[in-house]
Amino acid sequence: MQNPLIAKWNGPCGGVPPFDQVKVEDFKPALEAAMAECLAEMDRIAGDPAAPTFANTIEAMEKGGRMLDRVGNIYGVYSSTMRNAAFQEVEREMEPKLAAFRDKVVQNEKLFKRIAAVYDAREKSGLDAEQKRLTWLKYQDFARSGARLDAPAKKKLSDINQRLATLYTEFSQNVLADENTALLLDEESDLTGLPQPLRDAAAQAAKERDQSGKWAILNTRSSVEPFLTYSQRRDLRRRVWEAFVSRGDNGNERDNKKIIAEIVKLRGERAKLLGYKSHAHWRLEMSMAKTPERATQLMEAVWQPAVKRVAEEVSDMQAVADKEGAGIRIEPWDYRYYAEKVRKAKYDVDDNEVMPYLQLENLREAMFWVAGELLDLHFAPVGNVPVYHPDVRVWDVKDGAGKHVALFYFDPYARADKSSGAWMNAYRNQERFDGDVTTIVSNNSNFVKGKPGEPILVSWDDAVTLFHEFGHALHGISSDVRYPSLSGTNVDRDYVEFPSQLLEHWLATPEVLNKYASHCKTGEPIPQSLVKKIERASKFNKGFENVEYLSSALVDMRMHLAPDKASDISEFERGTLSSLGMPKEMVMRHRLPHFGHLFSGDSYSAGYYSYLWADTLSADAFEAFTEAGGAYDKNVAKKLREYVFSTGNSVDPAESYRAFRGRDAGIEALMRRRGFAPPLHRQQ
Ligand SMILES: [Zn+2]
Repeated sequence: MQNPLIAKWNGPCGGVPPFDQVKVEDFKPALEAAMAECLAEMDRIAGDPAAPTFANTIEAMEKGGRMLDRVGNIYGVYSSTMRNAAFQEVEREMEPKLAAFRDKVVQNEKLFKRIAAVYDAREKSGLDAEQKRLTWLKYQDFARSGARLDAPAKKKLSDINQRLATLYTEFSQNVLADENTALLLDEESDLTGLPQPLRDAAAQAAKERDQSGKWAILNTRSSVEPFLTYSQRRDLRRRVWEAFVSRGDNGNERDNKKIIAEIVKLRGERAKLLGYKSHAHWRLEMSMAKTPERATQLMEAVWQPAVKRVAEEVSDMQAVADKEGAGIRIEPWDYRYYAEKVRKAKYDVDDNEVMPYLQLENLREAMFWVAGELLDLHFAPVGNVPVYHPDVRVWDVKDGAGKHVALFYFDPYARADKSSGAWMNAYRNQERFDGDVTTIVSNNSNFVKGKPGEPILVSWDDAVTLFHEFGHALHGISSDVRYPSLSGTNVDRDYVEFPSQLLEHWLATPEVLNKYASHCKTGEPIPQSLVKKIERASKFNKGFENVEYLSSALVDMRMHLAPDKASDISEFERGTLSSLGMPKEMVMRHRLPHFGHLFSGDSYSAGYYSYLWADTLSADAFEAFTEAGGAYDKNVAKKLREYVFSTGNSVDPAESYRAFRGRDAGIEALMRRRGFAPPLHRQQ
């Protein structure tokens, strides 16, 4: 019997992942068979007696590796959402093998020679723009991964990559284990201050852990942040906060500090081997920012105003605490709690008042509606598609002409073995090269299920995140390119957050709120007065948000510029924060021992700045709508689809942006959006 993981996908919409047939023990043989097939395909291309051409080399490579795409995508879904002990064992064995496999492809000398020949001839061989770009990217990918090194250096590089793969797996499995812990509360009085939906969620979470009658505060962001916002029990806030910021940093067998030190050291060695000044220089070469200096310049332009704002926020909060006679100085576990009080006092709005209007399912409908208005995409539920967990639901996506363009999988709830946070995943990339293949994407988040049958209420921040991830999904869905490597979200790291951050802006539009933000009990639409208040409060707490984020991004960049200074992780983190002037009332959004963006893989390493970079684009791009008269302006939306959402990586991102906006983005819109005065000179 054939291993179902390597079989071609059957079913509706050009085939769907066979999630109903996945057995964890099938992953290893499937991955091994797929890697072997891919290597054989690459050998065949490399050994072609015909002279190298775009068709027999670059296109042939695009055609190859399809079995590995299929297995690898399902493997990726399991590694983020179904990561039980048995699967983790598979990962520990397979991750270094996958790294070795990738090096083997890149280090295939004959293959690289052919790629280089096509690359050298690219201007005079009659290639169109998309083909030229694919050739350029393929050549860069190989060259930057060590294809030009001599044999001993290649061997060393591959050893480093395999060791890194092992370390990334250990790192992320450790974080997952720490996030699977929870603080159990025994007494009703431990819940003082928590609104009812949070109490219900905590009771449900305890029940799922066989602790009926108690309450569990999970050690994940979506459980911890609301607790810190509402709990009146300062002692418990402190305990919850300490557990959360200590993930991966408990001096036990799951401690990540040694792992991180080794990762950073190896990355530094690898960069040197590849001829770069640092890991950061290597990573940023293929980004919109291009250099660590340009990325840092942008971060620093926002850092000072943000730190200044934190001081104002702290003084507002201290005044509230003093007025209450709390007799405390604001500490990090107090920040969210008192910020919420200040928000209530200053803007007469609190999340508790807003949350009953933010029902998960209505917000999902709202996102679909926005997709229809902006991109002419239309969603309808489908039931005959296999899923990996009963919580997952699937929608079919059609364009305005009724043509089927994608499937959208939605996996909204927290559960054990699932990574915390929220993300988008592509199961299959769009292409027009090997048949007209439609996209399959998913959105994943970690909402805590309440009582069965009752609507799930989400905070404003979580609603923003929902729109953010849906922006990634739409980027994948709208893709309209020829080659799968250039498809959808396969773009530079600091550009990929642009469509997603842009979509966040539509949540707050009156069109969405009036239609989809209705009260969970009364069904009444959200009052205009509350919408106005939300709007007024939108610049609130920006000091905290920006410093929380930027401190993480700056520490990331400094660490990957100077790995020698980072041998003692605690010391490095402390020292860097102090030299930056980190306010003592705050911590980084992700402390190093659990900073998954940096250490569960390479992709966001020296790249956490990307969110800020992309936000200069999204803030500026949204102003294109407001300048034209509104968030739903048809002409601007058309340009957005044509130049941004549909082009994938077939065009240089800076050019795409210019085509959309008619000019480059400056920093002014970003600063306005964040409530800071713009600097006197242009940044980008
Ligand atoms: Zn994102």
